[in-house]
Amino acid sequence: MSTEPPGAPEDSQSRHDWLTSLDRAHVWHPFTQMQTWLEPLPGDEPVIIDQARGCWLFDTKGRKYLDAISSLWVNVHGHRKPEIDRAIKLQLEYVGHTTLLGLASPPSIELAAQLVQRAPRFEGQPVLNKVFYSDSGSTAVEVALKIAFQHWRLRGKPKKAKFVALGEAYHGDTIGAVSVGGMDIFHQIFHPLLFDVLRVPTPYVYRWPTGARHCLEASALAAEAIIAGRHEEIAAFILAPLVQGAAGIITHPPGYLRRIAKACRDYGVLLVCDEVATGFGRTGSLFACEQERVVPDILCLAKGLSGGYLPLAATLVTDEIYESFLGPFESKRTFFHGHSYTGNPLGCAAALASLRIFDEENALEHGWQMAQRLEKGLKEIAKLEHVGDVRQRGLMIGIELVKDRRSKEEYPYEDRIGHRVCLAGRKREIMLRPLGSVIVILPPLSINAAEVDLLTEAVRDSIREVTEG
Ligand SMILES: *Cc1c(COP(=O)(O)O)cnc(C)c1O
Repeated sequence: MSTEPPGAPEDSQSRHDWLTSLDRAHVWHPFTQMQTWLEPLPGDEPVIIDQARGCWLFDTKGRKYLDAISSLWVNVHGHRKPEIDRAIKLQLEYVGHTTLLGLASPPSIELAAQLVQRAPRFEGQPVLNKVFYSDSGSTAVEVALKIAFQHWRLRGKPKKAKFVALGEAYHGDTIGAVSVGGMDIFHQIFHPLLFDVLRVPTPYVYRWPTGARHCLEASALAAEAIIAGRHEEIAAFILAPLVQGAAGIITHPPGYLRRIAKACRDYGVLLVCDEVATGFGRTGSLFACEQERVVPDILCLAKGLSGGYLPLAATLVTDEIYESFLGPFESKRTFFHGHSYTGNPLGCAAALASLRIFDEENALEHGWQMAQRLEKGLKEIAKLEHVGDVRQRGLMIGIELVKDRRSKEEYPYEDRIGHRVCLAGRKREIMLRPLGSVIVILPPLSINAAEVDLLTEAVRDSIREVTEG
């Protein structure tokens, strides 16, 4: 049954044209210069995705594309995964949505227990035991910031009110998340609206000013100095562990997270790990912080949480933090925060099904094998004349294009070099989206070997066509 209104054209070309004109008339696309969208260059016409299956997207013109960015880093087990489809349909036979404000629901209860059971856990470190739901990565981060802030007020340490964040941080697009964010191109204009943050350098190995060898030590020392020197005013240190996705898939040197975690613990600063992008197997383990044997005080999850099906997010905290908020009703220690769709049952049902697939189909192991296969293909790409750096952690890959390999000179912004490579990819049935001059490869964990090979070849040929052509 069609969901389209009466009057929608039936033949596919007319339907495509009709949808295109309505899109142009009424839809404002995120992170998109709409003037360019409305007047596209040849080869850059809007693509309308109609259906998807597995790792493949199908558009209204009958073309297909490999979903090499997991529909913006959310999809985990492929599209129309029967087990997840069934779980959502089954939940629909009970109810689509009921609130968590003053009421409970079976899927949100079961999912909370599952998340706690699977969260990073190591001897001698705090245990993440409580789950606060929301509906996007940005809100998972807002919740983390507000909980950390209120925690210290409730503990009688109101001076601990500042956050430390990394230079090129990205934590979402709401005002609190933008405040801890540090990407000038997205965040600069909003500066007057934002709260002050203590900034430490991003451990960006490829572009570390004094050379790659010094990156870990120098960046960790800088962060440790801030923590040691100003811990009395610091509520929390927030970072995306192992990989800073939106900054350009910047992969941290091994050992960085562990040092930050140790300094936070030594000085009584809360550690917030934003695993919105890295969570659910992207970096090779279910959560990235496991790889450095780190349990944060607060863990933010979204994107892959529902398998990439529905907007669902969770902020996990320790009992110690949770207990700060306890008191008699009239104490007003309550965490006064919540969203209309907090803990949506359909999203939770999808998430439960997604977690089950990790157990039943060895999704982590499969993803890891595909990551290793990709690594082989990337070796060829790394040799290309305009590839400056290839960075990989599991199935998160960034290929940084440079005008000049030796000087690492960047391409000018207006060249849209990354975008042009992605358009060249489209001709080869690969759907990509760049971050500036960085080509991002971030496929679902369920990608198969043949798809990996197609992907690496298409990316290599697309880069060559645009940068050497
Ligand atoms: C995508 C992302 C967010 C924001 O998530 P939304 O669901 O888009 O609000 C926050 N943090 C990180 C690390 C992300 O990659």
